[in-house]
Amino acid sequence: MQKLLPYAWFGGRCVPFGEATISVATHALHYGTGAFGGMRALPNPADPNEILLFRADRHTRRLSQSARLLLAELPEATVLDAIHQFLQANRPTTPIYLRPFVYTSDLGIAPRLHDIETDFLIYGIELGDYLSPDGVSCRISSWCRQEDRSLPLRGKISGAYITSSLAKTEAVKSGFDEALLLNSRGKVSEASGMNLFMVRDGVLITPGVDQDILEGITRASILELARDMGIPTLERAVDKTELFVADEVFLSGTAARVTPVRRVETTDLSGPRPIMEKLRSALTAITEGRDPAYEHWVTRVPLKG
Ligand code: PMP
Repeated sequence: MQKLLPYAWFGGRCVPFGEATISVATHALHYGTGAFGGMRALPNPADPNEILLFRADRHTRRLSQSARLLLAELPEATVLDAIHQFLQANRPTTPIYLRPFVYTSDLGIAPRLHDIETDFLIYGIELGDYLSPDGVSCRISSWCRQEDRSLPLRGKISGAYITSSLAKTEAVKSGFDEALLLNSRGKVSEASGMNLFMVRDGVLITPGVDQDILEGITRASILELARDMGIPTLERAVDKTELFVADEVFLSGTAARVTPVRRVETTDLSGPRPIMEKLRSALTAITEGRDPAYEHWVTRVPLKG
């Protein structure tokens, strides 16, 4: 069990974690009609009284948009204000992962999004590495990524994570670390909770936003960083066999950060990864508040008192 932070945001205020409880009849629990965010926050290595958030504006915007996809209203300012209060109450001393969640909070049955109450909560856990920074082995999942015509893929809709869960467990139970999902057209989409990149002949390639991916904030940041560094980038459909001949393959996500892929199915990919390493160390410096050129990607929250 991961270590939970002592306070949660629940019912519009910070309460001790144990008091943040919901009913067994909560609508979202049964129908998956919630949407969540996932953000890392870390004490500034140079000043522990300051908490650093990476691209907080992008994260709050995506959550607000996810709420809209559930026909609920959650202004970005409400999320940001709650996050600030949550950080003040918890005063984290180690890197944490914040999990804001908007959900249908009515009690009772009938899958729907109209005539229903919604609520918003946040809890947090301490989080170091989600996947091994030395690399993971990946299986091509027998489960396929959902399609946007049956589910809104531009939000982190909780019900959608049944596919991620099935794929991850299938991978782990068959001896791999992670799952790569193809989309319904047979192109590479993403991993169970991360976007995918590969490098071929010096070009950084990632499946485009038309490949049923979640539009990851780490993915967008890596693309922007690469362009700033002069690394050519391409967003396009990726075939499965390209992964077997790629020079580098890696995953990106808030929890996973930048994680190398060292094997796909039976193909070894443990060679040098100069482009991934360059991007990974640049991203680490930015998230730790050490790169003035990307200061606009960092929100600094001073802890009072
Ligand atoms: N795909 C899925 C399905 C995810 O859950 C995540 C994690 N949020 C990602 C990709 C990566 O997105 P981000 O970089 O915004 O964390």
